[in-house]
Amino acid sequence: MYAPTGVKTSPDMAVPDTMRAWVLGDPGELKLTTKPVPVPKRAEVLVRIDAVAICATDLEIIWHGPPASIQGGMPFNKNWTPGHEYMGTVAALGPGVDEYTIGQRVTVEIHAGCGQCKRCRAGMYTSCHNYGLNYGDVDKGHRANGFTTDGGFCEYQINNINTLVAIPDAMSDEEATLVVTAGTAMYGLTELGGLVAGESVVVTGPGPIGLLGVAVAKALGAQPVILTGTRDNRLKIGLELGADYVINARQENAVEAVRKLNGGKGVDYVVECSGAPNAVNEAIRMVNRGGKVCLAAFPHEEVPVDVAHIVRNNIYLYGIRGEGKSATHRAEAFMSQKRFDATKVHTHTFPLEDLPTAIKYARERIDDAIKVVVKTRGSAAQRVAAE
Ligand SMILES: [Zn+2]
Ligand SMILES: [Zn+2]
Repeated sequence: MYAPTGVKTSPDMAVPDTMRAWVLGDPGELKLTTKPVPVPKRAEVLVRIDAVAICATDLEIIWHGPPASIQGGMPFNKNWTPGHEYMGTVAALGPGVDEYTIGQRVTVEIHAGCGQCKRCRAGMYTSCHNYGLNYGDVDKGHRANGFTTDGGFCEYQINNINTLVAIPDAMSDEEATLVVTAGTAMYGLTELGGLVAGESVVVTGPGPIGLLGVAVAKALGAQPVILTGTRDNRLKIGLELGADYVINARQENAVEAVRKLNGGKGVDYVVECSGAPNAVNEAIRMVNRGGKVCLAAFPHEEVPVDVAHIVRNNIYLYGIRGEGKSATHRAEAFMSQKRFDATKVHTHTFPLEDLPTAIKYARERIDDAIKVVVKTRGSAAQRVAAE
């Protein structure tokens, strides 16, 4: 039985020595295998993973590699486990850990910075300068589970205590996996200045981050909140999450429609979540002079951008990475206070052994899939109907 030296375990929560884990082979290839249950070090805990959501970035990594970086390179054929949007139960405590207790339910954020670089020292741990340096003699202690260290498509994982967020019993496993997504939206709005009450916000792209971006912006008091996209079923969910207006960009010119809704001047902020090739040029025309644009998605190819328009109008552009500045804690606070219902973006659930099917649903948007969750526990975790 699992009993590593210096690690605290509990008879109430027996931990096996090995676990089921998916590993990435060639691009697009996942294999179910057996791995040893990992051992937490100082300031780390062992989390029993109960549920994990699939993110568009997982698909990017599984088929293309970056932004994952394993042992300084591409993540393929390195016995590496992807997956980063998980939640679970604390199963063992590393030496000296008293911040959490065994049996406590938690959700996670991704990045544990090195704690010693210039950016970490300034609180920007998702921009850690030692990103991916956590192996061999270049080990700086950085972790980004599912990006630079083993992730959540398995039964147990190690988390630095800085990456844990305690959750209430009333929050379901599925909902808890969405905290990190809401946290990314929260971080975007934080980087834009955070004081969005009464300010006008456009969110472009009704994927999970965009939809929860609408919810977070509304919960922070933004007005109006406008969502643009091309799928009516997703725009409808945006309305349910608090959008004041939705614009179907296939039916009308989104830039003109946004400007019209805001007295011809454009809005104060745009949170760009579509990654469409023309998204930046549209966003800089949706904001008013001196407005701010947060880029939370990216296209595959380099795209031309109208720099003159940005300069002449004093427009600010922000690229964000991950869910920094403890944004997941603030997102979880909104969710546990039921300021919005994040479960509206959760559409399907599969058991861990059906991960390839779950990924197929997420990738091909089968049956209008938005957020697909994989559950590691319980009997046949079944598919739930889209609301
Ligand atoms: Zn993600
Ligand atoms: Zn760092």
